[in-house]
Amino acid sequence: MPQIDDKLAPIYEEVVRRNAGEPEFHQAVREVLESLGRVVAKRPDYLEDALIERICEPERQIIFRVPWTDDKGRVQINRGFRVQFSSAMGPYKGGLRFHPSVNVGIIKFLGFEQIFKNALTGLPIGGGKGGSDFDPKGRSDGEIMRFCQSFMTELYRHLGEYTDVPAGDIGVGAREIGYLFGQYKRLTNRYEAGVLTGKGLFYGGSLARKEATGYGNTYFTQAMLKTGGTDFDGKTVVVSGSGNVAIYTIEKVQEFGGRVVACSDSSGYIVDEAGIDLDLVKEIKEVRRGRISQYVRMKGEGNGVYFVKSGEGSIWDVACEVAMPSATQNELTGKDAKKLVANGVTAVGEGANMPCTPEAIRTFQQAGVKFGPGKAANAGGVATSALEMQQNASRDRWSFEKTESRLATIMRDIHDSCYSTAEEFGAPGDYVIGANIAGFIRVAEPMRAFGVI
Ligand code: GLU
Repeated sequence: MPQIDDKLAPIYEEVVRRNAGEPEFHQAVREVLESLGRVVAKRPDYLEDALIERICEPERQIIFRVPWTDDKGRVQINRGFRVQFSSAMGPYKGGLRFHPSVNVGIIKFLGFEQIFKNALTGLPIGGGKGGSDFDPKGRSDGEIMRFCQSFMTELYRHLGEYTDVPAGDIGVGAREIGYLFGQYKRLTNRYEAGVLTGKGLFYGGSLARKEATGYGNTYFTQAMLKTGGTDFDGKTVVVSGSGNVAIYTIEKVQEFGGRVVACSDSSGYIVDEAGIDLDLVKEIKEVRRGRISQYVRMKGEGNGVYFVKSGEGSIWDVACEVAMPSATQNELTGKDAKKLVANGVTAVGEGANMPCTPEAIRTFQQAGVKFGPGKAANAGGVATSALEMQQNASRDRWSFEKTESRLATIMRDIHDSCYSTAEEFGAPGDYVIGANIAGFIRVAEPMRAFGVI
């Protein structure tokens, strides 16, 4: 296992001690601290004024009750969270996740990653994350609306276009953002478009925001492939998940000439050896809000089309040259990584947040697989959120082409800065080290300028 530098090890131990029972948060902090040894060796001044300790401690954590009434008239109680992690670069910025697995440790890991990711975009946004253990699966529109209204009735007092700007994540898409925005507008009596991003196109949303995370990961992975003199054209690709990130990854990979042969949801994965029919996936997921197994029923089993139930196999058993995990944290284990390497994978771009376990990352890097960590590779979503904020602030609306071309430039810049930072700090080709160090330096400098706050 990579070691944490002696000077930083006590910081990690203290994080573990003070945040007991939050393994995902420990994992996210550990990965960054493992990279920072190279920074403090060159620049010991970064150890001053507890700068690194301060980055690991959220500026503010809000936990609140969310009562709502279901369709049967029963009162339900969920827990809401917003972790305002760092405002060194700008207003807190990061999504809301509605999923039964959500707890404070999950939100802290996501918020911590978001600080560095947002800094890497080069745009003025701080880091935060929020959500609830509410499970939207099987809930009616009315239930979703009442939940969102209750959630916002508590959270609105902590938000603002200059304070904290949430967006979507797992379980929160345009429908939820609409209900949240409506309630914020009603409570504050302000049409403050820049307070949320990922809005619908009829009320201040940005073209290309929906596509941005998946497109962005594809641009990033394309840039990694280019350093080895190749591209997506003709490559076999596996994309896990079938939510917003996965769907638009598949779309862009197909446009670049790749053949995506598998995708998944929590019920299992489907394979279509001829290449996934994306219109069908969109119909199932975006229109019907159904299960991915319907793909096989609608397309007809056989001829290289099949479904594997979850628990009976892993999507990473499917051979591919490029893997783009786009479902959730720790979905790709060391064992999966070994299988992928044995099957000839050459590049991995993380569309989800922290989908690869530390052992998986190590396996890829030792095998010489190009590995793009989520905080760099999936930054296109939040970067385009910042472009949405720019459009809202200037009361303007950009074309799809203009927004996508800004996104493409941002992703190439993130790639290049990770690449050159890794080289500068003696770890050529290591995008994990490059992303962590480049992100850290951008946040540490304004923190220092602001004094001890
Ligand atoms: N939830 C996304 C992420 O993980 C997007 C956040 C945003 O747009 O603010 O970066």
